[in-house]
Amino acid sequence: MAASILDGNKIASEIKAEVATEVKAMAAAGTRPSLAVILAGHNPASEIYVRGKVKSSEEVGIYSEQLTPPDTISTEELLEMVIKLNQRDEIDGILVQLPLPSQVDSKKILMAVDPAKDVDGFHPVNVGFLSTQRPGLVPCTPAGILEILRRSNVPIAGQQAVVVGRSDIVGKPTAMLLINGNATVTVCHSKTRELPGVCRRADILVAAIGRAGMVTRDFVKPGATVIDVGMNKVTDRAEFDRLFAGNARREETFRSKGSTLVGDVHPEVAEVAGKLTPVPGGVGPLTIAMLMANTVRAAKLRRGSRVPAFAGERS
Ligand code: NDP
Repeated sequence: MAASILDGNKIASEIKAEVATEVKAMAAAGTRPSLAVILAGHNPASEIYVRGKVKSSEEVGIYSEQLTPPDTISTEELLEMVIKLNQRDEIDGILVQLPLPSQVDSKKILMAVDPAKDVDGFHPVNVGFLSTQRPGLVPCTPAGILEILRRSNVPIAGQQAVVVGRSDIVGKPTAMLLINGNATVTVCHSKTRELPGVCRRADILVAAIGRAGMVTRDFVKPGATVIDVGMNKVTDRAEFDRLFAGNARREETFRSKGSTLVGDVHPEVAEVAGKLTPVPGGVGPLTIAMLMANTVRAAKLRRGSRVPAFAGERS
């Protein structure tokens, strides 16, 4: 039987609607959550992402501000910008869009963001909060993955979860959230032996690898929930045929654009999995929705309000 497809756009819209309601209530009480986005230089992909973030902020009623220093900005100048934003009390969230220009020390910049305003959840203080189950700011994509699972009624506690990928941005925080949700978690990476066999144990399989269609049907236990985080642009004809031979809709996109977006999970997995997130339209939309949720969370935490616990946080 074909997997049921978990609609990320629909879940993201639900979350944004909830955020908009919260923002309205906060505004009525005299607070407007606010987000500052730093976009350094002219990276076309970053410009698209930032536009999406600003547009979503407007939709939910979050005040947003964009700072666009030139490609030539130095680490010191960018540090100064971040410090100024840290000092401005009316700014709740600070997001530094990555990648930064090559001459900038990205780690130094991310470390300088006030952890209370770190809506990307990358600061070591927030990483520590997550691993010790304290209220903090959780990275947006992993937080979105948990929302997809919860809102699709996928049980987490007691389940076997396998996360392929151990990046600081996706793999590790996702594994931590699943541990906090009482799953039994295995984390895999490029040195893992017998990867398909390890993955086949999973009730929940998260693929965050960055390799188009690498997770084939032999990685998946029948009926498992598969979350595909990967976003890979396929431009090669042979690669396209390996993934989408006979798919007329994809064929049309590929012909007209010369590329198509594909996840880390091969489309054939839909024949084995119980539930599956599509690419596009799965995890991607949740990332921005959770940025909105994080900005509201930051605004509340900074004002000493109680926030609902996130996936296993001690409240
Ligand atoms: P990274 O490149 O930082 O990490 C990739 C991970 O996959 C590493 O841990 C690496 O292992 C592991 N890996 C690579 N090759 C293999 C292999 N052959 N077998 C097993 N493991 C392997 O990527 P990110 O975590 O940043 O992103 C992962 C994917 O998710 C990308 O496609 C990215 O575009 C996408 N993404 C999507 C987002 C969204 O909003 N939907 C947001 C962020 C990312 P090792 O550590 O050993 O090198």
